[in-house]
Amino acid sequence: MIEGKLLQVSQVKLPVGYTAEDVRKACIRKLKINDNEILAYETKKKSIDARKKDDIHYSLSVVVSLTDKAYSRIISARRPVPDVTLYKEEKLEIKRITKTDDKIRPVIVGSGPAGLFCAYVLALSGLKPIIVEQGQDVERRTATVDKFWETGELSETTNVQFGEGGAGTFSDGKLNTMVKDPYRRIPFVLETFVRFGADPEILYLNKPHIGTDVLKDILINMRKEILSLGGKYRFETKFTDFETKKGDISHIVLNDEEILPCKELILAIGHSSRDTFELLSSKGIIMTPKPFAVGLRVEHPQEMISRYQYGKMYDRLPPADYKVTAKGVEDRGVYSFCMCPGGYVVNSSSEKGGTLVNGMSYNDRGSKNANSAIVVAVNPADFGADDALAGVRYQRELEKKTYELAKGAIPIQLFGDFKENKNSTGFGGITTVSKGRTEFANLREILPKYISESIILGMGSFGTKIKGFDRDDVVLLGVESRTSSPLRILRDSESYEANITGIYPIGEGAGYAGGITSAAVDGVKAALKIIEKRI
Ligand code: FAD
Repeated sequence: MIEGKLLQVSQVKLPVGYTAEDVRKACIRKLKINDNEILAYETKKKSIDARKKDDIHYSLSVVVSLTDKAYSRIISARRPVPDVTLYKEEKLEIKRITKTDDKIRPVIVGSGPAGLFCAYVLALSGLKPIIVEQGQDVERRTATVDKFWETGELSETTNVQFGEGGAGTFSDGKLNTMVKDPYRRIPFVLETFVRFGADPEILYLNKPHIGTDVLKDILINMRKEILSLGGKYRFETKFTDFETKKGDISHIVLNDEEILPCKELILAIGHSSRDTFELLSSKGIIMTPKPFAVGLRVEHPQEMISRYQYGKMYDRLPPADYKVTAKGVEDRGVYSFCMCPGGYVVNSSSEKGGTLVNGMSYNDRGSKNANSAIVVAVNPADFGADDALAGVRYQRELEKKTYELAKGAIPIQLFGDFKENKNSTGFGGITTVSKGRTEFANLREILPKYISESIILGMGSFGTKIKGFDRDDVVLLGVESRTSSPLRILRDSESYEANITGIYPIGEGAGYAGGITSAAVDGVKAALKIIEKRI
C-alpha cells in the first residue's frame, strides 16, 4: 500500500503498450512538478478508452506520493490542478469477538461467493462458522462436472450450480458490479481475491475478471485460511429442515437426519436451490416472485468482436467485450448478459430432465469465440400464477422442453434458421466452443413467441451497431433461464433477518445480489451485522 502525502490523479492518458516509466512521467506532467518530487505511485483504475478508433488509449487513475513541498504547493494553489484530488486510503474494519460460544456456531448454508465471504469475515472476527455445502469440494467437483460434460451423467448436488464456490466457480469470473459501495466492501472483496491468488491487476482494472482456472485455486486457499481460523466445512451435506422456538431459529436438520443447534442460520443458497426454496416457503418464510430474464446464448468469433471494438489495434489489446440493449416485442427489454470474451458455452443443468446454458472462460480468455446471453425481460405476469415459486416453475418448464428437444444435449441452431423457424443441419463459418454434448434443433420450439420475436428484433438492432452480430451463421444455444433469482426472500433492511429471527437470507438466491462481487459484498454485509449483534 502506498504511503505518505497522497494525491489522486485521474484521466491519465497513456498509449497502448505503455511502460511504468510512462505512468510516472504522465503524472509529473499533469501535476506540473519536478522529476524528483514524486516519491511513489500506484495505479488505482485502468480502462481502455476506445471511443475514437483512431485514438485508442488507456485511461488511468493514479495515486501518487509526493514530497511535502510539492504536496503543499498543489493543495494550497489558488487554482486547483485539473483531475487532481486528495486521497485517503480506508480499510474495512472487522471487529474481533473475544468471547465465543463454540457449541453454537453460526451456520452458513452455501459456499458460493455470498456464503464464502460471510464465512471468511466471521472467521476473521473470531467466530468459527460452519459452512454446509451440498456439493463436493472444488477438486472433486471439477472431476464430477467434467464427467457430466463428457457423458451427460448429472449429479443433482454437484454440478455447475452446486459445490464449493457455488455458481461462480465455472464462470468467466467477471468481477465488475453495478453496486455502488462507499464502505470499502468492494475493495475488501477484490483484495481478498488477490490475497488468495488473483492477479493484483483486478484491484485497478475497470472490468476485472479471474477465470475458472484461477478461481479454483483461490477457493482452495480461502478454505485453508477459514479452516486455520477455526471454521469448518461440511461438504456433501444438505440443509434439509429447521425448527424454531418462540419465533427464533433453534436448530437445523442436515441430510434429513442430523440435528444441529443453531442461533444464526445464514442462507446463501443461490438461485438454483429449488427444493430449499420449497422448504423455506412451506415453513412460512416470506418470499415474493420477481422479474428476471430468459433467452439464448450466442457465439461470435472473438476476432470479429475485438476488431469492432478496437479496429486495427485489436490484436494488441485483451479480448474485447460488448454490451448491447434494444426493445423487443410488447416493449420488453432485450439485452446481452454475462458476456464472456474468449469463452465457452457450458451445459449448466442442476436437475435431471432439464437443460440450460451459461458461459465460462479461463483466465487467458483464449477460446476463439465470444459468447453472451441475449435475454428478454420476463415478469410475474408471464409466470401463469402469482405465488412465490411461480417463476421457478416457469424456468423449470423451459428447461424441461430444452432437455426434451435435444434429448439431454444442448440444442443448437444458426440464427438464420432460427429466423426461418427451421432446424439447423450444420455450421456455417462459426463453430461452437462449448462444454457438453450439442445437437442441432429448432430452438423456437421451446421459447414463448414473445421471447423468440424479441430475440430476432434485438439481434437485428445489435447488427446495426456491431457488424456481423446478426449474421445467419451466428450460433445460438439454449436455454439461458437462470439469469437471476426468480424470487426474493423478505429480510429486514436493518437486521438482515427474515421473518424468523436468526435466519439471514443473503446473496443472489435471496434476491439481494446479481453476480460474484455483489454476492460476496452481501456476504460481507451480513457478517458485519452478525458481528455487530454479538458485540
Ligand atoms: P451460489 O454461488 O449459487 O451458491 C449457492 C451454494 O449454496 C451452492 O454451492 C449450493 O450447492 C449451495 N446450497 C444451496 N442449497 C443448499 C442446501 N439446502 N444445503 C447445502 N448447500 C446448499 N457472475 C459474475 O459476476 N461474473 C461471471 O462471470 C459469472 N459467470 C457465471 C457463469 C456461470 C456458468 C454461472 C452458472 C454463473 C455465473 N455468474 C457470474 C453468476 C454468479 O456465479 C452468481 O451470481 C453467484 O455465484 C451467486 O452467489 P451466491 O453465493 O449468492 O450463490
